[in-house]
Parts: sequence; structure tokens; C-alpha cells
Amino acid sequence: MSLEKQLESTGIVVTKLDDLMNWARLSSLWPLSFGLACCAIEMMGSMASNFDLDRFGVFPRPSPRQADVMIIAGTVTFKMAERIKKLYEQMPEPKYVISMGSCSNCGGPYWEHGYHVVKGVDRIIPVDIYVQGCPPRPEALIGGFLELQKKIEKESLAAM
Ligand code: SF4
Repeated sequence: MSLEKQLESTGIVVTKLDDLMNWARLSSLWPLSFGLACCAIEMMGSMASNFDLDRFGVFPRPSPRQADVMIIAGTVTFKMAERIKKLYEQMPEPKYVISMGSCSNCGGPYWEHGYHVVKGVDRIIPVDIYVQGCPPRPEALIGGFLELQKKIEKESLAAM
């Protein structure tokens, strides 16, 4: 039974520490607020009132020191790659990366002729979730967060 259902039905929760910690972490994912190109507009849309990512506990944070999720929303140029890596390294563990859109996944429309574009952000930092599209709709990004929550649910403190 989920923690929410136990609490609702009995007022008492009996669970493993892993489950409690995972539940707390997946219910309060704080992405670093920055965007790289057009996909960032959809990312902003997903946080606005129509889609309201807040209801999943997702709140953007302005500092990498307070964030545990990095959304790569847009084209990753070689000029930006080093900055992205530095921001990623400044985030505390455990941390996660969502690659949002074709540019970030594989170079997108710049795959063939974009000499200035990194052909996938996973060449510079590890990626946990890939969201497809050019650009992905806010629903797709929300789907990406739901997948990330499923991944966190299975984690173990002993393995960190
Ligand atoms: S994937 Fe498409 S919409 Fe997103 S940044 Fe690239 S070109 Fe723009």
C-alpha cells in the first residue's frame, strides 16, 4: 500500500527508511531554472498555470546548490557545454538530468550541419530521462518527471 493510502486509512505509516526517503525526494524535485533555446519556452509553459508542475512538488530554483534536477531545454552549443558541466558539478548529490527535446537528445535539426552543436548532452553529463520532440509539449515534460519519479522510487540509500 502506498504511504499516502496508509496515512489516509489508518493515520499510521509503517515503512522502510528507503521508501520514506524516496517518497520525500520524488515529491519535491527542484529543477535548476535555466533554458538554452526554444524548448525552454515549453518548459516555462509547463510551470505556468495551465499545466502547473507545482502540483507534483516541482519548483524551479535559481541556484545549482539548491537544485536536484537539471532540465536541458534547448540546443547545447560547444560554447555552453562547459558552463552546463560546471553547473551540473555544483549541484549536490543525488541529482538527476532530464534531456528535453531533440537538440539536447542528439543535436536535433543541427545533427548534420550544426558544427557548433554538441550531438547530445549525454556526451558531457549523464542523462536519466530523455523527452522526445521538437519541441516537446509541456505534457511530455510532465511525463518525463513522472518517469523520473518512478526511477527515484526504486533507489536505495545503501547504493548512494
Ligand atoms: S529541439 Fe526543436 S524546439 Fe527544442 S531547442 Fe531544438 S530546435 Fe528548438
